[in-house]
Amino acid sequence: MQKVEKFLPLSRPMISKETIDEVIKVLESGWLATGPLTQKFEKALSNYYADRKSACFTSATAGLHASLMAIGVEPGDEVITTPLTFVCTANVIAMLGARPVFVDINRDTFNIDADRIEEACSDITKAIMPVHYAGLPVDLDKIYEIAKRRNLRVVEDAAHAVGSYYKGKKIGTFGDIQVFSFHPIKNMTSGEGGCVILDSEQEAHILGLQRFHGIDRSIWDRFSKNGSCYYDVVMPGFKSNMSDIQAAIGLHQLLEVDNLNKQRRHLANRYREAFLDLSDKLTMQSNPNYEFIHSGHLFPICLRDASLRDKFMSFLKEHNIGTTPYYTPLHLFTYYQKEFGYKKGDFPEAEYVGERIVCLPLYPALQEYEQDYVIDMIKKFFKKSI
Ligand SMILES: *Cc1c(COP(=O)(O)O)cnc(C)c1O
Repeated sequence: MQKVEKFLPLSRPMISKETIDEVIKVLESGWLATGPLTQKFEKALSNYYADRKSACFTSATAGLHASLMAIGVEPGDEVITTPLTFVCTANVIAMLGARPVFVDINRDTFNIDADRIEEACSDITKAIMPVHYAGLPVDLDKIYEIAKRRNLRVVEDAAHAVGSYYKGKKIGTFGDIQVFSFHPIKNMTSGEGGCVILDSEQEAHILGLQRFHGIDRSIWDRFSKNGSCYYDVVMPGFKSNMSDIQAAIGLHQLLEVDNLNKQRRHLANRYREAFLDLSDKLTMQSNPNYEFIHSGHLFPICLRDASLRDKFMSFLKEHNIGTTPYYTPLHLFTYYQKEFGYKKGDFPEAEYVGERIVCLPLYPALQEYEQDYVIDMIKKFFKKSI
């Protein structure tokens, strides 16, 4: 066993020399805000996603918020989503005055239980916002079938799913609207950033207005040599446009992400094999009954004994291993209880998983001997805790 001295974090971005050189070029170019590189990045994203439209933002959160605005989510509407997600998924619904309607998860896949979505639909349901948890695609055929029949929109929170595939099709190349995150913890990064992939020209136009003060001409048009210095404001908007510094990073990461994902999947398979004989202690995200490719964003395990979780995470921390319990189910947070009347017990499957889940270090630069050390320490912990 090779010795591991340094701290092994949950995640670490992999930044190539080409990326660093590209950022230096932007810094020297004199154009740092939204400009030619952002346009180039959006073209590259469209290209990666079957020539659909793309709109970059400062974050996936901003992209999700703008997407819900673009499809017309308003006060009084309901939007269906999973309680086992990062809080921004439901926050953007609440920010628009709509109600997040949670549907419990499937204990085995940790994804929203698509068979229970229909019963959560009502006359005021506007959209479904599924999350491809950890990078495992949700059952999109089922979700789109309900959406089509009930005339609902679907905004996929695909923050974990760059490079995931559902039944042979890349997430983002089909369906309604997908939102990807380029936060440094995700599979590809632009420093901070995100993008929306969609088909509608009109909705893409609203996204463009939303991310830049509601101004109906791009900043590039305004300040480039041939642009006009006059502009009109057609609606109030935010300031969530991507910078060319971010786009420079994103452009290179996009070229690299499929290879990086392969390395992630290789490491995830090594974890899976190593934990087969710990099946009395923990479970792993199980395969749904359709064909898919996992992006390898996270490697979550679910401890059978919830009372061991804090000890488990402290033990690993003492041994220089970073972990995190993604996520606390959203209906347990104060705001969601006070504002929407949710309470403990409402979503037992999400609570079961939420009390037991731990994500382990997974990133392309994680060396096999380092991963072996993580595996070894986990086995040691369970031997001690018998
Ligand atoms: C990270 C994350 C987001 C938000 O991404 P940002 O780019 O940080 O705004 C949204 N949804 C999920 C499930 C996430 O994990």
